[in-house]
This record gives sequence, structure tokens and C-alpha cells, in this order.
Amino acid sequence: MIDETDISQERKWLYEARAKIVVTNLKKKNISAQYVPSRQEALSTILEMIPPGAVVGRGDSVSVDQVGVIPELIKRNQNKVIDPLEKDADGFYIVAEREDRWKIAREIFSTDVFLVGTNAVTLDGKLVNTDGWGNRVSAMIFGPEKVIVVAGANKIVKDVNEALERIRVTAAPMNAKRHYLKHHRPEWGDLPCVRTGSCVDCRHDYRICNYTVIIEGTMIPEKDRINVVLVGEELGI
Ligand code: SF4
Repeated sequence: MIDETDISQERKWLYEARAKIVVTNLKKKNISAQYVPSRQEALSTILEMIPPGAVVGRGDSVSVDQVGVIPELIKRNQNKVIDPLEKDADGFYIVAEREDRWKIAREIFSTDVFLVGTNAVTLDGKLVNTDGWGNRVSAMIFGPEKVIVVAGANKIVKDVNEALERIRVTAAPMNAKRHYLKHHRPEWGDLPCVRTGSCVDCRHDYRICNYTVIIEGTMIPEKDRINVVLVGEELGI
């Protein structure tokens, strides 16, 4: 009997078809890319890409957490992990002082591997990201020797305009809400997007949309510095 309520197969097919277009187009821009069907395969793929002894920095990314890379790295005990925004089980920053988090964030620029997600990836192979602090987007484009970007197929958009819209309509409001709800940041509760669910292109003192970077490709000497793992599942925000 056919289950008309289950569209997981159709979604999986669409995710894979779109992801494969993105992979082809990223490669044309000197960005290494591969498609994996599930987060479990993403985990084993990413672990293989991180050599023993490599110092690993991480950006704030729900996708990285959902794939579970950091706990596995800690378990295998072969890599130093640098996370300026590490939190305890109750969502409080382990490093309480902002100045100290800054210092740790600057260490990321000399790491061997930077693990991060992306706000959007376009069908023609561009990575589009907006930061409040700038630590994530800057390390994506310069510093760490290798960048591994993990992205669910839900992050695929038609073009840069759709990517920017995705960030303002979905990613930024949900991200601000996430920090407000989970990370004890009352100042972000006052952002218009957090109060109403809609972006008004605010000028709030704690606006989280300050630095937008579009990665259009790399030069040949940096070929394959950026490695995108596209996952045939919904991941992240
Ligand atoms: S309201 Fe402000 S912080 Fe919120 S998404 Fe818009 S620009 Fe970003």
C-alpha cells in the first residue's frame, strides 16, 4: 500500500539532484565539494578529512553540532579543538569574558582546519554568509589552512539574491532567537526580528547582520582549500 503522507523519498531525490548541481559548480571555482546522503556519512567523511595532529577551529554552526563532529574528535583524542564560543550544558559560555573569547577567536586564523556551516549555497556554486562578529566569515576566506563547510541540502538556493533573502527571512532571525533562548543573551531579545519574527533591516546596537561575505571561488594556489560537504538532509538554520 502506498503511503501518500510520506514524501521523504521525493525530498531525498530533490535534495540529491540539486546538491549534485552545486557540487559540479563549486568544483569549477576551485572549491572541493562532495555530496553525501546522510549526516552519518557526513560525519565519517569529515573525520577522514581531518588528519591526526591537526589543530581544528570551529565556527558557530548548528549543522556542525548536528553532524556530531566535535564529540567524535574529542573521543578519538588526536586533535586539539579551538572553540571561542564553547558553552556548558546550560548554554553559558565556558570563557566568560568577551576579551578572552576574542583572543581565542584570533587563534583560529592559524589552525590547520576550520570547521563551519554556511547560511546558503547557490546552485551556481557560491557560499553566502552573514555574521554579527565577523570571526566566522573572515576565517572562511583567510587564515586556516583547510576549511570544511558542512551544509544540509536545505541551504541550497537559486542565486545570491535568494541567499540574502534566506538569511534575512530565516537564518538571521532564527539564529538571534537561538542565542536569546539558549545562550543567556537578553540584549538580543530586543532585536526586531526576535520580537516579531521579521527582519526590518534594523540599526539596533546588537544587530547580528553586520558582515556579509560571498565566496565566489578561489585562485589556483588556494585550490581545494575550501571543502564543502553537502548532505542530503535538512541541517542547521
Ligand atoms: S532585524 Fe536586524 S538583526 Fe534581525 S535579521 Fe534584520 S538586520 Fe538582522
